[in-house]
Amino acid sequence: MDSEPAPPITAADFKAPLDFKGFQMKPQDAPAEPEPPSNEPYELTLRLEKGDTIEKMLADIDVPEDDRKQVAHKLQSLLKKRRLAVGETIELQMQPLPDQPDTSRVLSLSVRPQPEREYIVTRKDDGSYDAEEKIYKVSPRIVRVESERNGSLQQSGVKAGAPSAAMIEFIRALAYDVDFQRELKEGQKFTVLLEQLVTSDGLVTHPGRLLAGELRLLKRTVTVIRFRPQGGADGFYNPQGESVIRSFLRTPMDASRITSRFGMREHPILGFSALHAGVDFAAPSGTPILAAGTGKVVAAGPNGGYGLYVKLQHTRDVATAYAHMSRIGPGIKPGVSVRQGQVIGFVGSTGMSTGPHLHYEFHRGGKQVNPLSQKFAMRGTVGGKDAARFRALARQYLSQMKNAPAASDLAKKAAEKKTTQTPRESASSQMARIN
Ligand SMILES: [Zn+2]
Repeated sequence: MDSEPAPPITAADFKAPLDFKGFQMKPQDAPAEPEPPSNEPYELTLRLEKGDTIEKMLADIDVPEDDRKQVAHKLQSLLKKRRLAVGETIELQMQPLPDQPDTSRVLSLSVRPQPEREYIVTRKDDGSYDAEEKIYKVSPRIVRVESERNGSLQQSGVKAGAPSAAMIEFIRALAYDVDFQRELKEGQKFTVLLEQLVTSDGLVTHPGRLLAGELRLLKRTVTVIRFRPQGGADGFYNPQGESVIRSFLRTPMDASRITSRFGMREHPILGFSALHAGVDFAAPSGTPILAAGTGKVVAAGPNGGYGLYVKLQHTRDVATAYAHMSRIGPGIKPGVSVRQGQVIGFVGSTGMSTGPHLHYEFHRGGKQVNPLSQKFAMRGTVGGKDAARFRALARQYLSQMKNAPAASDLAKKAAEKKTTQTPRESASSQMARIN
């Protein structure tokens, strides 16, 4: 690009000559030498502001009119009707004019509105500009995030580099099997396997879809595997090929704490010993309560000591009941059908209650039983023609959860690469030139 001999190294080589000047140490007696005129190229990163155009932006940094018109025109010919978003980053390579060091021309301008697409305008030796669109191939990459629970499982995963959506999916898949109150402890290790989408020069365009996950509890490890049966939708399965979805949630609330179990106890208000016919979960007033299973509302309203109360009938034999609500969920009234996980009300302290909590009952054959000791049926198993495909996939995911590259290592490597290599050098083989 530049055929002139390289000038000697000056302060300008160390960037930001304006800031640097103030700190320059000069011999006191020597007269201040005038800076040698430098027309060394330098890089500049600008952000497109509201109401900005490329031409206006270049005018603001005193690019000569003819240059900025050409650059803006060339870029627009690439973008066609598309417009750049406010906040878009514009990378410039500038060069001061030899005779006017305060004015710089544009050697190149590049903008990458999507990770897979970069638009570059480059100055040619004759002073005209070339425009090119560079397409980066996007392909999937399987990575692993391994960490331990410190606070919530979701936050621990996000801190370790997993996207929040993937962690939520992981937690939902675990929720059918894991009793979060009793089994989840600080420091427990987990691994999630993610499929990211990455450009050929290492930019992540999708942070990762959950393929599989593993949570190591005190006495057992729970593994979930994403699988799509033929003609069906994606779901999560255990390594034996059983769907994680069960007919009932383990607990009808997120992040709750059990304050009273099923069984005989001294009643906190009545003061005598009686059967506590449900389980109490402490939670702040207003915490959403979820339908433990799909079914029909058979009661919704005030019910004596139960306060605001909802009862759901799931099968002829099984019903669940929820008491002391502050408020009943929208649209919840007798006769209405509900789906598993739907919000049916909010935690409160109505009726005979000493503080905000959910009193949860599980009824079998008309009698209250301990909800926490129920064994719930798995909903489905990977069948005949899917079985071999599932086994192969499960084997692959289980080994990748141990061996796949760690997402954090790849991110570190990409960051290192970025500082040593300009994006233009890394994908020159895939340039599509438009003129
Ligand atoms: Zn209770």
